[in-house]
Amino acid sequence: MPYANENIFAKIIRGDIPSYRVFEDEQTLAFMDVMPQVPGHTLVIPKFPAENLLDVDPDYLAATILVTQRVAGAVKEAFEAPGIMIAQLNGSAAGQTVFHLHFHILPRHDGLEFKLHARDMEDGAVLEAHAQRIRAALDSR
Ligand code: AMP
Repeated sequence: MPYANENIFAKIIRGDIPSYRVFEDEQTLAFMDVMPQVPGHTLVIPKFPAENLLDVDPDYLAATILVTQRVAGAVKEAFEAPGIMIAQLNGSAAGQTVFHLHFHILPRHDGLEFKLHARDMEDGAVLEAHAQRIRAALDSR
């Protein structure tokens, strides 16, 4: 399937639709998942048209995974999470629903289950408060 310029993350990169941003540089962007599976669920994407891990330019992949590591550390601190889950889906058969490469960062706590994938929209004020916590943790590093 060719990369679709109208996918929702391409629109977020262009600023055509709003997002709760926690970090960005020339090559990457990190923002809150609007249907979080746990509080603090964050996404990291390359600012480059790649559908998934298998077709991304290696330089952008390297930049994206390094930012994923950095943001994951901030998410861990901001949500006092003993565990961090990184998820990344390739193709609809694997459950991918947005066809622009992204890494999910999910803070995990013992005994706290995560919600179903892409199901319940979170309140904007909650997402902004969570983004602020992660930005503060990034700034303190
Ligand atoms: P995947 O199924 O791995 O492709 O994940 C796509 C993720 O994008 C899901 O977790 C959705 O909740 C999330 N999502 C969909 N639309 C938006 C949006 N406008 N802003 C932030 N996250 C979104």
